[in-house]
Amino acid sequence: MKLLRYGSAGAERPGLLDAEGVLRDASSLVPDWGPGQLGPDALERIRHADWSRLPRVEGAPRLGCPVAQVGKLVCAGLNYADHAAEAGLPAPAEPVLFMKAVTAISGPGDPVQLVPGADKVDWEVELGVVIGSRARRVTEAQALSHVAGYVLANDVSERSWQLERGGTWTKGKSHDTFAPLGPWLVTADEIADPHRIGLWLEVNGKRMQDGNTANFIFRLPALISYISQFMTLEPGDVVLTGTPAGVGLGQKPPVFLKPGDVMRLGADGLGEQRLVCEASGH
Ligand code: ZN
Repeated sequence: MKLLRYGSAGAERPGLLDAEGVLRDASSLVPDWGPGQLGPDALERIRHADWSRLPRVEGAPRLGCPVAQVGKLVCAGLNYADHAAEAGLPAPAEPVLFMKAVTAISGPGDPVQLVPGADKVDWEVELGVVIGSRARRVTEAQALSHVAGYVLANDVSERSWQLERGGTWTKGKSHDTFAPLGPWLVTADEIADPHRIGLWLEVNGKRMQDGNTANFIFRLPALISYISQFMTLEPGDVVLTGTPAGVGLGQKPPVFLKPGDVMRLGADGLGEQRLVCEASGH
């Protein structure tokens, strides 16, 4: 299933894409796509509902993040060997984890805000994993049973705030609009192999990233199990799994985003984002 949320920011309604690709309103089935709607039983009920009775949504409304009330965004850093190399860092022996503030979440077509002082804003196409049921100290064998589905993500990053201002990476990862998610939450049953997903990103039409989750250093069972040793993953939490090579910081010389730049990114089966960068005074 492809689940989504549409409408103006903060007032999104739940929807879904049917087998013909028609956007239908799902608000007669669920209040939203939030933590209470992402578990296996809840998703099974949606799968067996009569979608033909759901109203069609006309036009092309704005899409929001497809998951409501995300509790936390947990991110893996340096999870592709080629990206670790371009960052000039050794491949980690254990997963590198950091957090992004949930206030950074935005929709897959929303502008990315460049505020004063954000002069080194960079892109990172990633596979996002949406948790469907509580995962606390789970084994690798159990880990994927806690996954509701997958989402395209861009881990937008301000490199000077991340790397030159001291402390941890969180400062450079958390500004408003730095976590575009969507267009859809694609349920796990629709993804034959999450370790064979191609992902790509273009800036102003130039292909910058072209990777595949086959090249993860830490695959999803290991990563989710690992995170769950340190913190409980709750339904509606999203795990970002790292980015392949081709970020702006890795160019020679480095390249960063300017107002008017357009990012397009996509992943096999997960749709695309189109994000325009805009100067924001506040
Ligand atoms: Zn990242």
